[in-house]
Amino acid sequence: MKRAAVLTSGGDAPGMNAAIRAVVRSGIDAGMEVFGVHDGYAGLIGNNMVSLARRDVGNIMQLGGTFLGSARCPEFITLEGRQKAISNLEAYGIEALVVIGGNGSQAGSLDLAVMGFPVVGIASTIDNDLEGSDVTIGVDTAINVALEAIDRLKITAASHKRAFLVEVMGRKCGYVALMAGIAGGAEIVVIPEHESTPEQVAQQLRAAYDRGKNHGLVVVAEGAVNNAHKLIEHFEADPSTTGFSLRATILGHVQRGASPSASDRMLATRLGEGAVKALLDGKTADLVGIRNNQIVTTPLQDVVGKQKPIDLRLFELAQIMAQ
Ligand code: ADP
Repeated sequence: MKRAAVLTSGGDAPGMNAAIRAVVRSGIDAGMEVFGVHDGYAGLIGNNMVSLARRDVGNIMQLGGTFLGSARCPEFITLEGRQKAISNLEAYGIEALVVIGGNGSQAGSLDLAVMGFPVVGIASTIDNDLEGSDVTIGVDTAINVALEAIDRLKITAASHKRAFLVEVMGRKCGYVALMAGIAGGAEIVVIPEHESTPEQVAQQLRAAYDRGKNHGLVVVAEGAVNNAHKLIEHFEADPSTTGFSLRATILGHVQRGASPSASDRMLATRLGEGAVKALLDGKTADLVGIRNNQIVTTPLQDVVGKQKPIDLRLFELAQIMAQ
């Protein structure tokens, strides 16, 4: 293989830059020329790509986001859009594409691969909901950002005998909330995979209050039916049920922008190299991920449209630790 291209797509995740760097440098090491595509699939359709040298990807590993840019591109969902993307790639003599992104982006990878253009995906999303990888690029950093906020909120909560509802990202997946909840010592974790009613949250907060806790912490996944907004609405109507006075903090996109953790940089570097190896091994429609600390490939067919389940034993652990 002489020429490949790499792009980042969908929601940005800390570590994407490290993954681009790894694809470029591993590709060049293997004798390839690697093109960077700007703004995800929009750059393929808009013919916005440039050959990258080793030095072009220097000094970016420590930066969150993606220096290539990312975008959501509705045109790519159409057959005409993808045909245009393939003809632009072929005009440059590019033989394969590496797509760094989450569920939606890998659906795009599969659609392109089905049309005969070789694609290898790299598992990258702060939601950690992708099948085919135990963890995905960005989730460790996102959890650490959430944790830093939780630690700070606990200090102010304890000073005022308050409870905080902290809503974290993760779309329909409760992984970030569960990890941040356990590591942050939350009294309650509310996740889509194990829904709690406002009454249950109130009862658990009340129990913590009655046990003499001077603070309460509820970590809520944004994808839960009873997200922070819904819970606060409920408690505003009847503030007496929890014992604590209540505040809500929605962390939102602040979780995306951080400098990637060592763990995310390592993962991104290994997956980037793994993607180049997968291309050289002749993979044409696969996702590169990590399982049991081994870099593995999974057919995109088995990844797209699925949501990786979380380990509900960890939910029980969170409950035990909250007592
Ligand atoms: P993420 O990768 O973070 O899950 P999105 O779901 O926003 O991101 O998807 C990113 C882009 O991937 C979309 O804007 C679109 O261009 C492409 N995409 C998403 N779903 C599909 C699909 N089913 N078929 C083709 N392309 C898709």
